[in-house]
Amino acid sequence: MRVYNFSAGPAMLPEPVLARARDELLDWGGSGMSVMEVSHRGKAFVECAAEAEATLRQLMAIPDDYRVLFLQGGAFGQFAAVPLNLAAEGDRVDFLSTGDWSAKAIREARKYVVPSVIADEKPGNYTKAPADGSFQVNPTAAYLHYTPNETIRGVEFGYVPATGDVPLVADLSSTILSRPVNVSKFGLIYAGAQKNMGQSGMCVVIVRDDLLGRARPTTPAVWNYEQMAANDSMLNTPPTFGWYLLGLVYRWVQDQGGLSAMGERNRAKADALYGFIDGSEFYSNPVQPDSRSWMNVPFLIARPELEKAFVAEASATGLTNLAGHRSVGGMRASIYNAMPIEGVQALIDFMKEFERTNG
Ligand code: PMP
Repeated sequence: MRVYNFSAGPAMLPEPVLARARDELLDWGGSGMSVMEVSHRGKAFVECAAEAEATLRQLMAIPDDYRVLFLQGGAFGQFAAVPLNLAAEGDRVDFLSTGDWSAKAIREARKYVVPSVIADEKPGNYTKAPADGSFQVNPTAAYLHYTPNETIRGVEFGYVPATGDVPLVADLSSTILSRPVNVSKFGLIYAGAQKNMGQSGMCVVIVRDDLLGRARPTTPAVWNYEQMAANDSMLNTPPTFGWYLLGLVYRWVQDQGGLSAMGERNRAKADALYGFIDGSEFYSNPVQPDSRSWMNVPFLIARPELEKAFVAEASATGLTNLAGHRSVGGMRASIYNAMPIEGVQALIDFMKEFERTNG
């Protein structure tokens, strides 16, 4: 039986995508092989890879002067690859620190650059994004890095920071494809695949042409944007199955009506869940309303000793992975693109019933 999986990632995937992958597993496109068993240099896979990129370009309306790279090492790999590609040793890089993932990105970047945290939400326990215009971007910074959606504490920016001529770099891992985005505001976007796009271990990088060619000579070739762009992300053997799966997910998003339709659905899902939590005395969400994530909804219950029972009972009814991140506790419902509104409604119904019997 399929469950409603509220995991933050690897996360639920659309059922039609999984069914298609299953159907094609033993014989992909009449090859008599799975996609994992064909040459990545063969015509069939090269076309499959190009189609995935073309569909993503269409979905996100990616301008022609941006390259799309399909890399390995997850989003975490980019915590190192971005500074290696975009900044020289000793360069200053601006960071907005809004949660656990931006903090990890800063920690990793510190090996290669001099981080300057120009907005730090840690003192407020990461419960909001900094207000628009409340921080000063240093015009000499090599770039500004931020995390538009913090997966663990569910903090999301309601705006794209203006950085002038300083390239804006965004870790879109947990919000990519959840709604339309204006790519031209960014110098570079990266996103791990396992939330809204597919299989863990892959990372999609969307980078503006003028930022290529700045990599340090010590940059690993598989993370060198210019080299990977020149080789269509096939400098070495790419994760072929993961790339194929991305293509299926992109096509599914297209079938749903693209990012505008996705955005409307995701807003409705988030509104329903936050609306219920706010109307309840038993449940609460600590995040400032204008900074609440559409994708990751953490919540607490008035009697924390019941958390384990909540998670176990929910799981028994087919609502799985509702425990909060191990570093913060509480509960968290991740409601990415593949989570239908029916799943969110089932969660709300369960929460009502749990409150009725335990409140
Ligand atoms: N950034 C964000 C916002 C994330 O949520 C995650 C994973 N949860 C990462 C980076 C790290 O991604 P990966 O595990 O794919 O390296």
